[in-house]
Amino acid sequence: METRLVWNRIPRTGKGTAMVKPGSQDDPSRTRMARGLAQKIQSFAQAGVTHIRRGVDVEQRAGSPGEAGPATCDGGAPRPAPSQPQPASAPADDRVAALERLRCKVAVCTRCPHLARTRRNTVFGVGNPYPRLVFLGEAPGADEDAQGIPFVGRAGQKLTEIIERGMGLRREDVYILNTIKCRPPGNRVPTPDEAANCREYLDAQLEILKPEFVCCLGLTAAQHLLGTAEPLGRLRGRLYDYRGMRVVCTYHPSYILRFPELGRPAVWQDIQMLMKAMGLPLPGK
Ligand code: SF4
Repeated sequence: METRLVWNRIPRTGKGTAMVKPGSQDDPSRTRMARGLAQKIQSFAQAGVTHIRRGVDVEQRAGSPGEAGPATCDGGAPRPAPSQPQPASAPADDRVAALERLRCKVAVCTRCPHLARTRRNTVFGVGNPYPRLVFLGEAPGADEDAQGIPFVGRAGQKLTEIIERGMGLRREDVYILNTIKCRPPGNRVPTPDEAANCREYLDAQLEILKPEFVCCLGLTAAQHLLGTAEPLGRLRGRLYDYRGMRVVCTYHPSYILRFPELGRPAVWQDIQMLMKAMGLPLPGK
């Protein structure tokens, strides 16, 4: 099976209306649809999605039964395309296709039947498929569940601020994912069973992405990835090794929103440690 994906780049401003043609005055339903689509494109751009798929051209080639699932699947949020030049040694779209196959598996997963019943979307992950840095959060909230994209809404904006204003990177330079892919009702903390059910997907994502650094956002992500019961206060301030990746733990962006006076300096301290390890210039240095 050979699949060609055609991508439209979303303008950085998030003004997606240019991509959407409104209907004539005689066709108000088309105009309404166009307006809704434009708003959706804008919210994707704000979430750091750089491309949306315009169409799929699938060519069936004989004899590929051993492939690990389809390269595309229906439903779910728009898939990100690479926003960075890919390493010369990597086959074109290699990781994109691997991520897409995994995303398709996640999209139909019912290992946690109670979550599968109540979710609107699975929230797989978003960003550069060739990242140096991955941010790992806890679980989708209401906004993420509705849009199928991690870290949208207020906590997502805070994360974008950390990445762009704090670290001097762009959101689309990194990859962002969660410990579990379905929203726990009422935004409760994922149970150990749910996290264990979803662990295979997380490990497979990290295996495909091969980041140098992982930044765990919050207690759930840190404890689950590192397999520890240590409190976050004790996990911060050190670099850990997980399968060759260097791991830093800090507070979830929602902690900064709830307790700005405590959260902001603590997170900034952790991010500076991360930047130093990554060799990124610190502001004013
Ligand atoms: S949380 Fe993970 S393991 Fe559980 S149903 Fe969703 S995708 Fe499957």
